[in-house]
Amino acid sequence: MKEHYFIEKLEKCGSYGEIFDLVKKAVKRTLGLHRVGLLLYLENLPPNIGAYYQVGSNGIVLNKLLINLMGKLLISKTDFNSLIFSLLLHEYLHSLGFLNEEEVRKLVYEVSMKTFGKNHPTVRMALEPSLSLNILLLSSIDEQTDPHLEIVKDFEKIEHPYIT
Ligand SMILES: [Zn+2]
Repeated sequence: MKEHYFIEKLEKCGSYGEIFDLVKKAVKRTLGLHRVGLLLYLENLPPNIGAYYQVGSNGIVLNKLLINLMGKLLISKTDFNSLIFSLLLHEYLHSLGFLNEEEVRKLVYEVSMKTFGKNHPTVRMALEPSLSLNILLLSSIDEQTDPHLEIVKDFEKIEHPYIT
């Protein structure tokens, strides 16, 4: 499997499951590691948290709020899928036992480079992980003028410790 295979595959992904499948393939191919039995949850989280993996659990949680915001921004499907790929890859690496944040960030960069090549948005996101989140923070400020209160709803339910 070459770079263009993964680039085309990611562009065609239409679900989190498909993107996650690609994450697993990329990790298997670049690091030789694999695990099964993970579940994906969507939850409204503060906008500065993209996703988290609770150590010892089998669940990766994606920030539903952030994804909804991304969907409203005029970004390409490639950028959108790249962001989801990046977030899932980061948490998948945690689930494989990499708990050091710096190490995980380096691995996200390495896997993205080897999977998509250096000019791909996933690589840019791996180099500047806060950039995409900053854009979202800005758009969430606009969001506060929106009368629906979905942002606040689950805010206090986050009681469990997590690694972002
Ligand atoms: Zn992390």
